[in-house]
Amino acid sequence: MTENQGREGQLVTPGEQLGFEEEFAAGTNTYADHSTGELRAKVVGITVRDWRSRILAVKPLKTPKYLIKSGDIVHAVVTGFKDSLVILQIFYIERGGVQLLTPLTGILPAANISSWRSSPYKDALGYGDIVRAVVIEEAGPPYILSTRGREFGVILARCPRCLTPMVKRGGVLLCPRCRAKAKRKISSRYVKTR
Ligand SMILES: [Zn+2]
Repeated sequence: MTENQGREGQLVTPGEQLGFEEEFAAGTNTYADHSTGELRAKVVGITVRDWRSRILAVKPLKTPKYLIKSGDIVHAVVTGFKDSLVILQIFYIERGGVQLLTPLTGILPAANISSWRSSPYKDALGYGDIVRAVVIEEAGPPYILSTRGREFGVILARCPRCLTPMVKRGGVLLCPRCRAKAKRKISSRYVKTR
């Protein structure tokens, strides 16, 4: 690894252009766009150029602490419930439009789901729901999240019976296929599927 190269050791995000195929071969965590000859990053990480073998790679960030900040809006999928906590996997950060190929764990305490809701927290979100949330504690992972506020909450849920994406009808979600209904903490940004 050489020290005097301009882009060596630079923090890059997925899709970022790193160089050209004529200079380097695509190494770990990079890919070549053969239509343009560009090499691009697959993951968030630090560029590493091997000048002897002419291979360009990206070393993934092991401790991406500074990647997610307090106040960031993230998208995450619900993967579990435990002791009044909802466990999620964060896969997208709206700031910078960063897709995380390796999801980061987020935790949504029941008290942060909504400022008004009093019904059981397990009804507010379901397994597999896609949630839009705010990071309120950045010392993660796990990152502490909140879905308080009308723009936050479920943005896409699948029917628990037939897995069809559900549509928002008033304050509830409705399955267009089997007509099942689900109550959720729904975001005002719920995806319009039709
Ligand atoms: Zn259904």
